[in-house]
Amino acid sequence: MTVPFWVIEPADDRPRLVHVNATATGGGVAELLSGLVPAQRARGTNAAWAVTGGNAEFFAVTKYLYRLLHGQVAAAPLDDPEYLAVYRAVLAGQAPWFLAHIGPGDVAVLHDTQTIGLAPALRAAGARVVWHCHVGAEIPSERGPGAVWRALAGELAAVDAVVTTLPQFAPPGVPDGRRFVAAPAVDTDAPKNRELAPGEGAALLDEVGLTAARTSPRAAIVQDAPLPRDARVVVQVSRWDPLKDMVGVVRCFAGLPPDVHLVLAGTDPSEVSDDPEGRAVLAEVLRVRAELPPAERARVHLVSLSMRPPEWSALVVNALQRRADVVVQKSLEEGFGLTVTEAMVKGRAVVASAVGGIRLQIADGENGVLVDPADTAGVRRALARLLDDPALRRRLGEHARRSATARYTMRRLADDYARVAAPDAA
Ligand code: UDP
Repeated sequence: MTVPFWVIEPADDRPRLVHVNATATGGGVAELLSGLVPAQRARGTNAAWAVTGGNAEFFAVTKYLYRLLHGQVAAAPLDDPEYLAVYRAVLAGQAPWFLAHIGPGDVAVLHDTQTIGLAPALRAAGARVVWHCHVGAEIPSERGPGAVWRALAGELAAVDAVVTTLPQFAPPGVPDGRRFVAAPAVDTDAPKNRELAPGEGAALLDEVGLTAARTSPRAAIVQDAPLPRDARVVVQVSRWDPLKDMVGVVRCFAGLPPDVHLVLAGTDPSEVSDDPEGRAVLAEVLRVRAELPPAERARVHLVSLSMRPPEWSALVVNALQRRADVVVQKSLEEGFGLTVTEAMVKGRAVVASAVGGIRLQIADGENGVLVDPADTAGVRRALARLLDDPALRRRLGEHARRSATARYTMRRLADDYARVAAPDAA
């Protein structure tokens, strides 16, 4: 694929609002844009979506910034003024493509650190530039975010408006009229979330090779035997990223009753260019699984899913989330977990970490259960309690469905964006 490229081209010659991110599939931002762009068009905006590219060195830098925003690494490399040189050079090489398509009167929405480097060029060309930062953690600035804001000060100065999930995730010093808060949304009609016909989910899980002794060219499955049809099932769906703590989920699972199985599903790491740690995380999960006693190991199923074609993989995720008795999201930090909302709109009982944006999504004991991700025994107790109490699961799941479908609609997000994109918002 030559980059940059359009995922969705502008509809016509009217002023346009162009979303720019780093991947067409895989991860929450791509998922969000696939629903948001059509929703913006439905309300009359000439919305479009373009994707930038990068090499391994570039994505190593952006992944490092991502981890720094979550307080997971030391800030030292950013002391070197040359550290961002490759990052800036890779985006500078792509700027002419964007300047050919975005100009005065247009809005460019740059998503996450992977694209904010385009801000100065687009601003100079007369576009209104919005930066939507989807990540963040409630940590002191000196644990990481402060170093990112200092290093990207030039890029941030070229931004007209900043959007974050929680107000405290925004860089300091952005004036009130330029700072916006917008929670993400899910598309309940999309393959990822739509109701499945009777038998459709079971057929998909057979096809993928999870519940039938079958191999699929689109999924790599690690399991001793197919998932039994009558098993109680705990599911986590995530990228293979250290912050999603898939390894930690395996550790919490050990000790649950013998009819309970765990399914960890993630995108095939070789298909996610901006996720350089994916292979290493998957290897670590495999290692931890292999060390379990045989009876426990047999109850842990790993699914690495191809995203091609995207509709098929979305349907498999849908089927997995619906098959779950409990969905878990044991992230160490999370700007907003779309997987949490996806499970909630399906009426699932969710156990999720009380971190970042997830605290906005779940009211503990009302529409899900919040846990401390550092407390392995506490997470296990929460899973066990829900697994053993179908009435509680139903009550939480029903509240989850109602609250998530009311709050996290694409129409609401498109309305939020209409405010952000308006030139007089600044
Ligand atoms: N996802 C997927 N297949 C996978 C793993 C994840 O389609 O194997 C999707 C998931 O359904 C969700 C998105 O990727 O839509 C992840 O978004 P989230 O906000 O939870 O986390 P992010 O990856 O953006 O950190």
